[in-house]
Amino acid sequence: MNVEIKTIALGELATNCLLLVSESGETAVVDPAVYDENLMFFLEENNVSKLDYILLTHGHFDHISGIMPLKKRYGGKIVIHEKDERCFQNSEYSLLSQFGVSVELPEKADIVVTDGSVLPFGEDEIKVIHTPGHTAGSVCYLLNRFLIAGDTLFYMSMGRTDFPGGNVLQMASSLKKLCELDGDYFVWCGHGESTSLDFERKNNPYCVASRGRKNI
Ligand SMILES: [Zn+2]
Ligand SMILES: [Zn+2]
Repeated sequence: MNVEIKTIALGELATNCLLLVSESGETAVVDPAVYDENLMFFLEENNVSKLDYILLTHGHFDHISGIMPLKKRYGGKIVIHEKDERCFQNSEYSLLSQFGVSVELPEKADIVVTDGSVLPFGEDEIKVIHTPGHTAGSVCYLLNRFLIAGDTLFYMSMGRTDFPGGNVLQMASSLKKLCELDGDYFVWCGHGESTSLDFERKNNPYCVASRGRKNI
């Protein structure tokens, strides 16, 4: 089945927020950085009237700050990994305190996922891969031949590992795990340009270095 993915960069850190639309009309927003007029117009332009999911790649404020107004307007089940759900309550883990931002966040998620969780999406399914390293509860989402990588894998780079909950050894294992997926994927990154998994396997110095590491 076909899935359409559109993207808009939102907020001061230009977070890539994605809109997923299945062939049968299911919809999901990934990482609503902020709920501003750009996102409002973007959703209107794409004729979104309701959401099935609000998918979060991790709990940093630049990926979650738009959740509440978005959910109030469009609904949608909030999805986050069990280890990053604490970001809703803890401003050190969300980095809200570090960046001096204050926003309303949900008390908890509607769906808490772990490695291997599967979310039905129309005729398709969204698979969750736990990829700790940038945060303890970072995930990537797989949908058809798309890999939604959040702040784990960037074009020729990787996410920072020096924030609370980050871990450089876990990041190396996570990159290895992604590189060991079968076949090629179109990769949507949390910031910056898109890429392909094959390109990163061959050219991303962090992916190359992660090869041959033992899993931890
Ligand atoms: Zn982040
Ligand atoms: Zn980010």
